[in-house]
Amino acid sequence: MTTATDAAPHRRRVPAEDFRAVYATAPDGVWAAPGRVNLIGEHTDYNDGFVLPVALPHTTRAAVRRRDDGVLRLHSAQGDGAVTELRVDALTPGAVPGWARYPAGVVWALRDAGHPVGGADVHIDSEVPTGAGLSSSAALECALATAYDDLYALGLAPAALAVLAQRAENAFVGVPCGVMDQMAATCCAEGRALFLDTRDLTQRQVPLDVAAAGLRLLVLDTRVKHDLADGAYAGRRAGCERAAALLGVPALRDIAPAGLDAALRRLPDGELRSLVRHVVTEDARVQQVIALLDAGDLRGIGPVLTAGHASLRDDFRVSCPETDLAVRTAVAAGALGARMTGGGFGGSVLALVTEGDTERVGRAVSEAFAAAGHRAPRAFTAVPSAGARRLG
Ligand code: ADP
Ligand code: MG
Repeated sequence: MTTATDAAPHRRRVPAEDFRAVYATAPDGVWAAPGRVNLIGEHTDYNDGFVLPVALPHTTRAAVRRRDDGVLRLHSAQGDGAVTELRVDALTPGAVPGWARYPAGVVWALRDAGHPVGGADVHIDSEVPTGAGLSSSAALECALATAYDDLYALGLAPAALAVLAQRAENAFVGVPCGVMDQMAATCCAEGRALFLDTRDLTQRQVPLDVAAAGLRLLVLDTRVKHDLADGAYAGRRAGCERAAALLGVPALRDIAPAGLDAALRRLPDGELRSLVRHVVTEDARVQQVIALLDAGDLRGIGPVLTAGHASLRDDFRVSCPETDLAVRTAVAAGALGARMTGGGFGGSVLALVTEGDTERVGRAVSEAFAAAGHRAPRAFTAVPSAGARRLG
């Protein structure tokens, strides 16, 4: 397996040089935003609940030059080579095709919120795997949002940029995501997990020195994304909103664990009951993990992660054979705990492993995937890294 423990993978390519090759001029600067892995708190962010993401060392960089003629030009090293050219005053939700709608959406969201921003030439480069549940979309949005904040001297706080980036993805791209990914991309800090209350965006940086505890966060990207992902995500979100309305609460976050059974009895069907059970128990698991981390018991969070996976598999039903196999195999091979991370139906699994078991757990999952006829998974260890920033 490849344990890409490279702490600074963003040094692999120099986007400023590539920018010159595309636009025949120098960028004003280069900004970066990371992908993320969520320790616990899945499908809670659109229920006003709790999440605990960690930023990856993998980043998306935006080399950007401000333009004052209202033209927005977008190019990505991961794209098809074409430069997309748009006018900022003509940006319309739903009208921009392909990957360019993510950065175009950020410019639209800034302007729609009344910020006086114009055009830019933009070159994107990234090693955040796309569609792997590691949030390449938010990394892309937040790299550009941070660049615009600097270049247009907006003075917006990281959390405000996150909210604008989420609005871009919701209203311009058309993905009904919660705010976790964008908050992780902008607000995470090195060596910390971000404990976030998605209702009011209050946050606490929780020290997470896995290496000092002799542990590793092993990410196993299954490299599958099942087609039903988008519709199913929207369906789960709609189900949660319907359940909250039936229960007479603003969001499922308002159901306390002690009130769960009574709430379940008031719901008309088993499907809604399962959704509610996941969200309420998942919020409780985030609190449990926080308490364990505060007590210095890192190993203790393992079983909570595995319980979170069971809940996503059995109650929220967003797992799939590949993520279930990765979790089952990792735990059988000695992981302290494992769970799928991200929206589901593929993507990545996070395993908490002791340092000495890292290779073995990765190998066991690779072998199990080969035996099942699945594509080889990609493995790397996640080092809690910094949020969005200017690189140069
Ligand atoms: P995830 O955020 O989990 O990686 P999404 O489906 O939310 O998955 O976002 C992936 C999409 O984001 C890609 O299909 C592409 O349109 C866009 N994207 C992300 N990173 C890049 C990049 N470096 N260059 C171009 N497009 C990107
Ligand atoms: Mg995404």
